[in-house]
Amino acid sequence: MDLSSYTPCRLCPRQCATDRLAGVPGVCGETAELRIASYGPHMGEEPCFSGTRGSGAIFFSGCPCHCFFCQNWQISNAHGKGDAFSPDEFHRLALGLIELGVHNLNFVTPDHFWPHIEALCARLRDEGVKIPFLFNSSGYQLPSMISRYAAQMDIFLPDFKFADPVLARLVMRDERYPEIALESLRLMVAEKGFLEPFDPTGTDLAQRGVLVRHLVLPESIENTLRVLDLLREEFGRWLPLSLMSQYTPIPAAQSRPPFDRHLSAAEYQTAVDHAQELGFENLLIQPLAATDDFLPDFEKPRPFRGNPPPEP
Ligand code: SF4
Repeated sequence: MDLSSYTPCRLCPRQCATDRLAGVPGVCGETAELRIASYGPHMGEEPCFSGTRGSGAIFFSGCPCHCFFCQNWQISNAHGKGDAFSPDEFHRLALGLIELGVHNLNFVTPDHFWPHIEALCARLRDEGVKIPFLFNSSGYQLPSMISRYAAQMDIFLPDFKFADPVLARLVMRDERYPEIALESLRLMVAEKGFLEPFDPTGTDLAQRGVLVRHLVLPESIENTLRVLDLLREEFGRWLPLSLMSQYTPIPAAQSRPPFDRHLSAAEYQTAVDHAQELGFENLLIQPLAATDDFLPDFEKPRPFRGNPPPEP
């Protein structure tokens, strides 16, 4: 396994250049020791990924973004929850998910552990594993890494969080997010095309391509409208797009208005109306946070209440 990319580590736009192999973490909070916070069949993704048997989600500890309202804050913070896995343990974990019948392997926030994931995927393909591999990410990817990701992944599921650099700076301390995310998204679409098949019912499961997610934030509708405009200009109306309403204020956001409240129905409707006016044909919309079954609590052995209990 080639772990040289960890030293010095420039795997993501933070470009820390720390020596993670020597045990020095960067902004992502992680050394070169692979840490995983949770894994299992996950029903909380869009139906075209979760299907009936679940997406084989693997949640990695740490994250380069550090959005202060991160829903996965218990695992994404520096020193967040997680256990160390050797490459062989990681391989057994993946095989275990596949044996459970998951529809895909879903690598959640994979950027900062890419050398481990790249080696695992190559090994699984050599062993004849055929299910799609899914890169589930923040959108904050280094454009120069996209072809390396695409060599292993079938599906890209990136966020496009911010079109407003001021908002990006406020939330994650990097005003470059809009330009970086848009360029990475262009390259993902060039590599894999749009999601195929695109079946909102989940009957035909996604095999390949790109679906973009955008989480609408409280009192940030101008950002959302600009996100939608940019996506429409760049990719046209057939871009598969998931417009999410599930913003939930975590403890760290509760002293930071307007991020201390849920989204209002009017705000979400404004976003949906604009997406429809722009003519997006492959648009997924959510009921307004009717349930928190998929709001994780990683302190619990079963972080997502909406997922089936583990098999005995
Ligand atoms: S992956 Fe982590 S250590 Fe490497 S550049 Fe990004 S934040 Fe820094």
